[in-house]
Amino acid sequence: AKSAGRDMARFFSPETDHRVLARQTMEVQLRQALAAGEFSLHFQPRLQARSRKVQGVEALLRWQNPLLGEVPPDNFIQLAEETGLINRIGAWVLREACTTWMDLEARGICKGLTLSVNLSVAQLAHPELVEQLAQVLHETGMPAEQLELELTESHLMDNPDTAQARVSALKELGVQIAIDDFGTGYSSLAYLKRFELDKLKVDQSFVLGMMEDSADAAIVHAVIGLGHTLGLAVVAEGVENLATAQALTALGCDELQGYCFSRPLPLDELVSYLQTNGQH
Ligand code: C2E
Ligand code: CA
Ligand code: CA
Ligand code: CA
Repeated sequence: AKSAGRDMARFFSPETDHRVLARQTMEVQLRQALAAGEFSLHFQPRLQARSRKVQGVEALLRWQNPLLGEVPPDNFIQLAEETGLINRIGAWVLREACTTWMDLEARGICKGLTLSVNLSVAQLAHPELVEQLAQVLHETGMPAEQLELELTESHLMDNPDTAQARVSALKELGVQIAIDDFGTGYSSLAYLKRFELDKLKVDQSFVLGMMEDSADAAIVHAVIGLGHTLGLAVVAEGVENLATAQALTALGCDELQGYCFSRPLPLDELVSYLQTNGQH
C-alpha cells in the first residue's frame, strides 16, 4: 500500500497535473476554435528544382487562440485526431483552401499552379470524405487536377487496404496524391506500388541533415531513385539553403520547398510573392 501511495504521488506529480490541465484546456479551446474563427491558412510555395519556377503552394493550418496564443499544428493536430475534431477542422481547411485558390485564380495570380492540402489519416478513414471533397470541388469550382492531397506515410500503412481503396476513390475525382514525410514510415514497397500515387515528399529530417550526414544524403538519394523508378515526382521539403537546393537538383529531385525560398506566408504576402515570382 505504501508503494502504491508513492506511485500515486508520482502519477499526480505537479508536472503531470500541469500537463493534464494543459491538454484539457487545449481541448476545450480547440472545440470552439472553428466557431470562433481562430483558424487561418498560411501558404508555402514549392518550386520546380531545375527552373526554380513556382510550381505550387502548400496550405498550412494556423491556430491563433486568445488564451493559448499561436499554437503550432504539431501541438494540436494529434489532439484533433484523438477527439475526432479533425474531420470538421479538415473539412474547413479543404473548403477554405479551395475558396482562396479560386479567388486567386479569378485575379490571375495562380495560373497553372497546384494547391496542396494536408489530409489527416482520420479524414482518410472517414466514410464521407470522398463525398465531402466532391462537394467542395463542385461548390468552389476548384479544378480537381490542380488539387493535390498530402497523406502522411506513417499513417497510410496502419491499414493499407482501406487506405488504398480510399486513395483510389480520391483519384477517381481527379485529384493528385502525394505521400508526405516519406522515409519515416517503413512503407512496404509492395504496398507502395499498389497505391495510385503521383508524388513522394522526402521527409524534411533527411533533407535538413543531408549536407552534413552522409546517411541522410544516401536516404534522400535512394528516395529520389525509388520515386522515379515508380514513375513518381519527388519533392524535397525543409530546403533551408542554396547548397542543399543545388545538391538536390543535381540528384534529380523534381521540386523544392523550404525556407531557402519562402516561409509559409499569410495570404497577402503570398499574393505579393506570386506576383513577383509566379509569372512564367
Ligand atoms: P508537413 O505537412 O510536413 O509540413 C511541413 C512543415 O515544415 C510545416 O510546419 C512548415 O512550416 C515547415 N517547414 C517548411 N519549410 C521548412 C524549412 O525549410 N525548414 C524547417 N525546419 N521547417 C520547414 P507547420 O506549418 O508547423 O506544420 C507542421 C505539420 O502539421 C505539417 O507537417 C502537417 O503534418 C501538419 N499540418 C499542418 N497543416 C495541416 C492541415 O491543414 N491538416 C492536417 N491534417 N495537418 C496539417
Ligand atoms: Ca505536408
Ligand atoms: Ca512533410
Ligand atoms: Ca511533418
